[in-house]
Amino acid sequence: MSVNYAAGLSPYANKGVCGLPEKFDGPEELKAKVEALAQLVKESEYFVVHTGAGVSTAAGIPDFRGPKGVWTLEEKGESPHFDTTFEDARPSLTHLALLGLQRAGYLKYLISQNVDGLHVRSGFPRDKLSELHGNMFVEECEKCGRQYVRDKVIGVMGLKPTGRYCDVVRSRGLRACRGKLISTILDWEDALPERDLRRAEEASRRGDLALTLGTSMQIKPSGDLPLLTKRNGGKVAIVNLQPTKHASTIHTAPTYTCGAFHFVNIKYPRVPDKHAHLRVHGYVDEVMKQLLELLGVDVPKWEGPTVCESSTAPSGADADVKPPRGLSKKLKEDNIKEERKREATQECGKDESISVKRERADLPPEITEEK
Ligand SMILES: [Zn+2]
Repeated sequence: MSVNYAAGLSPYANKGVCGLPEKFDGPEELKAKVEALAQLVKESEYFVVHTGAGVSTAAGIPDFRGPKGVWTLEEKGESPHFDTTFEDARPSLTHLALLGLQRAGYLKYLISQNVDGLHVRSGFPRDKLSELHGNMFVEECEKCGRQYVRDKVIGVMGLKPTGRYCDVVRSRGLRACRGKLISTILDWEDALPERDLRRAEEASRRGDLALTLGTSMQIKPSGDLPLLTKRNGGKVAIVNLQPTKHASTIHTAPTYTCGAFHFVNIKYPRVPDKHAHLRVHGYVDEVMKQLLELLGVDVPKWEGPTVCESSTAPSGADADVKPPRGLSKKLKEDNIKEERKREATQECGKDESISVKRERADLPPEITEEK
């Protein structure tokens, strides 16, 4: 996220665990894990993806808690480096790959914590997307709820008035709504947008496969949504370089409550082994590139910012048709794959649980979170 975004938020003491070392799977291990992931995607009926700042670092926008993240550097008294502005940022391969998966019928719903607007600007249909922390390019009428997607950043944060007014014309009358437009970007204490959160929860409950990309999942409630999928018997796959909150074994701990959405706690019981996570430590762009190749899905080209309101719009593809494409032969070697996957999961499970415990021991009880 950008410096402007971070600087626009209120001061907040606890921003979660920052700057943990990154881990990379070797090429062979990565390949085996992505094959396992492709199989899970192929078998899924309702596939949901959760994205965090890690999907936008390749677009030149710093993340929050990575080694060069905004909050990591803030702890050291340094400023983050960013290579672009929100307006100039181009969607990463991952943004476009997600669009390809949606159009191909694999991806049913996308939930993002990012405010950079890159999912919307890549053309991902807004009726299949929840942006839980707002969007720098979107302002909303506080009276009728109409949202306006702009091509420049709104420039105001914390749900504050933008100085513009709603121009929706009421159906029978000539008078426009004239409600105040407000920013959709949340500040630390703001509640999540009701409609986006409700739809994200519905999709997470309905989902049988949740894939998280580039998020340490420390922010609540966003970071806990994949657990709704797990609780309903679905699977969770994680692609991240740093340990995440849900990595491997999570033990029951006291629940802390505070403001709207930004505390970290470990509230859910230990994840049963039969639902073991697939953990992939690699760059999201590399993982998505391999995944789409295995699924036979092309990564769409980006031709400039595009807004697609509905997945059923003429320009969009049918959201519920899965292509009759087969996976490569390799994917049929189920035994080998399953074994490798199990090993891989156990392997990363080990250091995960250690580092997670260590993190937690260091955490003050009211850890707060990211955005
Ligand atoms: Zn209005």
